[in-house]
Amino acid sequence: MLSRSPWLLHFNTGACNGCDIEVLAALTPLYDPERFGIRLAPNPRHADIIIVTGALTKKSAERLRRLYEQTPDPKHVVAVGTCAISGNVFRNSYSVVGGADNVVPVDLYIPGCPPRPDAILQAIVRLLKSIREEADRIEAAKTVAEEQ
Ligand code: SF4
Repeated sequence: MLSRSPWLLHFNTGACNGCDIEVLAALTPLYDPERFGIRLAPNPRHADIIIVTGALTKKSAERLRRLYEQTPDPKHVVAVGTCAISGNVFRNSYSVVGGADNVVPVDLYIPGCPPRPDAILQAIVRLLKSIREEADRIEAAKTVAEEQ
């Protein structure tokens, strides 16, 4: 469960930088992500959510898998942009595997080429809300079971 401020790790698996610029914009004071406790993690060991941008290239696939393994549980993966979702127009390229979910489980897909910063932030906040609601449901079910 993510009961504290979620820290994001941003990883570019082969983006044109369009999605990266929008992710960084979403993290600026203009959109004020810290009001939701969202901030950038310095490395995978401190991260809760991995933000993936770009088509997954053959070279970056292993690095993404390693980043995922280095990130402690519970962790979540968000694919930002059409490239990270499916490989976009690059998916049949000799050097591209496709979307991020070819190597790691993806919890949230944010479409767009690129998606807007407010759409990125709003989607992440919704993911956090659903994670917390699910955790509350599990906690409530546990309490009921203990009382019986
Ligand atoms: S989805 Fe569009 S903006 Fe984002 S990395 Fe791909 S081509 Fe660039």
